[in-house]
Amino acid sequence: MTPNKEDYLKMIFELGGDTALISNKQIVAGLDVSAASVSEMVTKLVEQRYVTHTPYQGIKLTASGQQKAAMLVRNHRLWEVFLVQSLGYPVDAIHQEAEKLEHATTPEMADRLAKMLGKPQYCPHGGVIPDSDGHYLDQSRVALADVEVGQKGHIERVVDEAAVIDYIFGLGLHIEDHFTVVDKDQQTVTLHQTETGKDLPIERKRASHIFVELKD
Ligand SMILES: [Zn+2]
Repeated sequence: MTPNKEDYLKMIFELGGDTALISNKQIVAGLDVSAASVSEMVTKLVEQRYVTHTPYQGIKLTASGQQKAAMLVRNHRLWEVFLVQSLGYPVDAIHQEAEKLEHATTPEMADRLAKMLGKPQYCPHGGVIPDSDGHYLDQSRVALADVEVGQKGHIERVVDEAAVIDYIFGLGLHIEDHFTVVDKDQQTVTLHQTETGKDLPIERKRASHIFVELKD
């Protein structure tokens, strides 16, 4: 399925485009689409005033783009919590289901769902859940790809995209797992996972979609 406008807004939000400039390249990697498709969609989003685009610097959400993205992310993640908490789904099987449900969600439904679930602030992938006014706790903005060899920390969140989630769970890496970065080269970032004692090589492209909290 080709990602639509809403998928782009969500991705820009998750990559940190609510407070910082992000690049076309980051969106290309996040959505697995061509650079041409990204340019085309960014032009549309600029026309609709959801984002600003400063050539050679990057893309950032406008206030209305941020509000729109926050609501999309809210709907998606509330359903994810519901699927795990109320329907007993395993965490690695909720993303696609939530993807279908979010498009049929009215603000009223989201509010009732949030209330029933006890107003959760994070989804099972560690992502923030904005409230009905679009406010949310700060999300980690340190990408694993930017962590230096020798630094320690834990996994805080992953970008809510099927390819990213499948990749990470496939490796046996989970939210809250502790690690030390033990090696880095052009292609990979290698983690020593504290919980299992294993070394996990992670593709750079994926490492830029895993966000961490560093131990100082
Ligand atoms: Zn999620």
